[in-house]
Amino acid sequence: MGKIIIKTEEEIEIVRQNGLILANAIALVAQNIKSGVSGLFLDKLAEQFIRDNGATPSFKGYHKFPASLCISINEDVVHGIPHAVALKPGDLISIDAGVFKNNFHADSAYTFALVGASEAVQHLMKVTKESLYKGIEQAIAGNRIGDIGEAVQNYCERKNPYKCVRELVGHGLGKSLHEDPQVPNYGKAGKGDVLPENCVIAIEPMVNLGRKDVYTKNDNWTIATQDHKPSAHFEHTLCVRKSSADILTTFEPIEAALKNNSELIFV
Ligand code: MG
Ligand code: MG
Repeated sequence: MGKIIIKTEEEIEIVRQNGLILANAIALVAQNIKSGVSGLFLDKLAEQFIRDNGATPSFKGYHKFPASLCISINEDVVHGIPHAVALKPGDLISIDAGVFKNNFHADSAYTFALVGASEAVQHLMKVTKESLYKGIEQAIAGNRIGDIGEAVQNYCERKNPYKCVRELVGHGLGKSLHEDPQVPNYGKAGKGDVLPENCVIAIEPMVNLGRKDVYTKNDNWTIATQDHKPSAHFEHTLCVRKSSADILTTFEPIEAALKNNSELIFV
């Protein structure tokens, strides 16, 4: 177990400001995503927006990752590299990004479905997003990491026939993109580190329609499902507080843009 770094109120406000830039960057993606455009195009749009706001994309250059967005399509779970390939009707597209400004990171992800996505895929998206909020409900001071994991896992696997990915987890963040603690999307309530007040963590369920098993593709980045069935991913950065979590990223601008994009399905 490493050391969980507590943030000051000033630092938490910086993360919140970065979270807003990040939400607006993903909203710009939501405005422009449609069949025929490429991930590379969306990546350039988001990177320019982040830089125009005086910030740096957290992922670009992180362990030599080549882009500002992770774009993970259909069977790809996370860490997908944006490509020149055109998106097509029915694609399920996870957009994950980070913003770094004034020495702090914010990290968030949203999954979009292009018109033509199956009912099954739409339901997976809805459950994955809802499971994120089930986890967030447990992110209160004095609770344990396992309380979050069990809430997410129960919601996805007991209430629904889906599987949470085990190999990749949420995390603390701040001056570094990944800090302690690790925040798995599975586990047992009452187990693991106690969450201190004013720690900042990212909760990010990655939920598979089929089996839980994943593998790394030949590009050495993209994580994909072994059974090639689709996977969804939603993420918020939040601050652990006494009575309820303080969510520092937001889906509001993203969902406003998505509802105005006739090529996307809102669930
Ligand atoms: Mg993250
Ligand atoms: Mg992320």
